[in-house]
Amino acid sequence: MAEAKCNKEKNARDCACTYSGCHRRGMCCECVAYHRRNGEIPGCFFPPHLEATYDRSLRNLARSLKDLK
Ligand code: SF4
Repeated sequence: MAEAKCNKEKNARDCACTYSGCHRRGMCCECVAYHRRNGEIPGCFFPPHLEATYDRSLRNLARSLKDLK
């Protein structure tokens, strides 16, 4: 089975995470694995005002869900 090619540059351009110094930026599989391992959610799942807090916790994501109507 052929290995899928990572679109790291495109992913990094489209990334909604504002923590620009992160070495995982653009490598979504590593981003997901890192945050999952820590019981967290990647930054791109948060609305901008909560993403900017850098709090990737499930509790913080739940705050964004409360804002949904
Ligand atoms: S969400 Fe986390 S791992 Fe992903 S790019 Fe942002 S800081 Fe890095």
